[in-house]
Amino acid sequence: MACDKCFEKPVIKVTGSENSFCKACFFKYFEKKVKKTITKYNLIEKNDHIIVAVSGGKDSTVLLNLLVKVLKGRDDVKITALAIDEGIKGYRDKSLEHIKKICEDLKVELKLFSYEKEFGKSLDEILKTYKGIPCSVCGVFRRYLLNKKSKEIGGNKLATGHNMDDEAQTILMNNFRNNIKVSARMGPITGIISDKRFIKRIKPLYFLTEKEITSYAYLKGLMDKFNECPHDSDSYRAQVRDMLNDFEAKYEGTKNGIITAFLEILPLLKKHYKEEEFDEIQNCKICEEPCSGEICKACTFVEKVIKN
Ligand code: SF4
Ligand code: ZN
Repeated sequence: MACDKCFEKPVIKVTGSENSFCKACFFKYFEKKVKKTITKYNLIEKNDHIIVAVSGGKDSTVLLNLLVKVLKGRDDVKITALAIDEGIKGYRDKSLEHIKKICEDLKVELKLFSYEKEFGKSLDEILKTYKGIPCSVCGVFRRYLLNKKSKEIGGNKLATGHNMDDEAQTILMNNFRNNIKVSARMGPITGIISDKRFIKRIKPLYFLTEKEITSYAYLKGLMDKFNECPHDSDSYRAQVRDMLNDFEAKYEGTKNGIITAFLEILPLLKKHYKEEEFDEIQNCKICEEPCSGEICKACTFVEKVIKN
């Protein structure tokens, strides 16, 4: 067997027709896909200040490396990295070392915020008394800080390492939970309406699978070991991910099918929920961040879980 492009020895097989690639052709395929996503969905514009959410994992490591590469020579676009320290011993402390090193190597400024400083307790501390699913509180705090801190740093867009697997899982999760309105905010660039209180999220890795990103990170020497959050397997997402991976193994192209069908109906969803979105967004009575009720979810957790 040979690479479908140049007849060298292949190192990876991806979904699709021309799908066996040698290392050099795989890098080209991968980087071309990222550039195409950025151009097609107009993810990066003149004078953008892009905040890149970095976790030390493979997705955000690849994302930061590629954005620096793609934006080389663009003096009009600024990049700042933003990391959140949830306070998960044995996991986040290790990945933070990796994040600091990547940012140093790439000469990207890193801003670091922690749950302990922002909310009063680390996740490890919170979980001593909170008996719910860790990701439910952690996810709320994380989304809250990413939005709030990106604005404070002066960014106008937040780039995340979400890939095709993440997006396909979220689409299914929203369907299973009858949360279609949340799906209306998704896509390679997020949001239904333009509202300065919500920073727009861009997802340049949207059309790449987890397998492709893992392979790219490994073949480029960006990661030597993959570190997983100890709470990951407890989550609803992890169950949907396993189910979807089983399905993909049996019926190749399933994830791509979910994304493609979703992008076809996304403009209709955005149109449908536009007015409701305008009416619903208020400012939290405690922290003044945008939310759909009187008190935002993060402040609700702080009041219920941390203060009590
Ligand atoms: Fe937080 Fe859950 Fe992610 Fe771990 S897997 S960092 S607990 S959201
Ligand atoms: Zn609040």
